[in-house]
Amino acid sequence: MMSDFAAQLRAASLRVTRPRMAVLAALRDHPHVDTDTVISLVRADQPMVSHQAIYDVLRALTDAGLVRRIQPAGATARYETRVADNHHHLVCRSCGAIVDVECAAGQAPCLTASDDHGYVVDEAEVVFWGVCPDCAADRIAP
Ligand SMILES: [Zn+2]
Ligand SMILES: [Zn+2]
Repeated sequence: MMSDFAAQLRAASLRVTRPRMAVLAALRDHPHVDTDTVISLVRADQPMVSHQAIYDVLRALTDAGLVRRIQPAGATARYETRVADNHHHLVCRSCGAIVDVECAAGQAPCLTASDDHGYVVDEAEVVFWGVCPDCAADRIAP
């Protein structure tokens, strides 16, 4: 619902603008896409929005906690609107596909460090690396 996004923006003390609404809608419908994909999704609907404006929107939404930025090692940054539930990701080494996995234990940090060295730990970032079913099938195919 677009009105939910408006309420989220206001709750984060951000002005409700068409580009911000469009970025949130694009990420809701296409989770884990990179910046270039966000730009093409938003500009398909609002061709007048500049690349720089979309970069700025992504940064503002990420800073406000409305969007989560994930960056698996060696990959470009991806964005999603599913925030604050401490979920993890499965990443395909072959094609880069990313899917969500529920947090193992339910709340952050879901893993306990074997030695916290006195740090107050509030998050455990877990990435499961492997091969997705499509790529696994390709490998078996003759
Ligand atoms: Zn794959
Ligand atoms: Zn996710």
